[in-house]
Amino acid sequence: MIIAIDGPSGAGKSTVARAVARELNLPYLETGAMYRALGLEVVERGIDPEDRASVEELAGVLALDLDRRPDGSFAILVAGEPVGTRIYGLQVTEATSRISAYPGVREYMRELQRVFATDCGGVLEGRDIGTRVVPETPFKFFLTADPAVRAERRWRQLREADGASPRLADIEREVRERDERDSSREDSPLRWDETYRVIDTGELSVDEVIAEIVADIGSRQNSGE
Ligand code: C5P
Repeated sequence: MIIAIDGPSGAGKSTVARAVARELNLPYLETGAMYRALGLEVVERGIDPEDRASVEELAGVLALDLDRRPDGSFAILVAGEPVGTRIYGLQVTEATSRISAYPGVREYMRELQRVFATDCGGVLEGRDIGTRVVPETPFKFFLTADPAVRAERRWRQLREADGASPRLADIEREVRERDERDSSREDSPLRWDETYRVIDTGELSVDEVIAEIVADIGSRQNSGE
């Protein structure tokens, strides 16, 4: 079984996807972490994220691997080493948003994700999972919320994760800019269509969102869809 969970940043995808995977006893892949791993390499090697040719060349030679953790989620390895939490810093987030628009980067990541989905199945969370990576799956969910709500969540996360104290207004601007880049890129823009079930997470608790998804999957399995 393959479950696609897509949506903009801060919509609660990671928390929800991880919990749904746990509940259904399935593997879980956070595809954003794969783009972030490349973003981290770009930053650490001092490559300009606007330099498309250099970024695409790096994607082609990057030894990116997935390592299954005991809880069913996957750690991202670069040259055999786990990337850890450094991928969530502000500078890497900004670089990742830019480099993930490049077709050479997307092609490379999509291929790895397709192999993962075919070999392991499970919950894949990202921006284009149901539109491009595994469009054939019937289980597609698009999580969204008002940008102000998503920015506040991200702001809290940053404060809790690494003690950073960014301004909420700056985070909201960053969230809106990322939305704009994700939605306007030519290769696999952030979209949903009638094959998705859309859930506004701004009005629901995390547990309610998880329950809605699990119930939806269960009812469609029972009806033989
Ligand atoms: O989901 P997360 O915010 O961690 O993703 C980091 C970045 O990776 C996003 O800004 C987005 O541009 C990109 N991304 C993507 N396609 C995916 C997952 C993430 O373009 N499937």
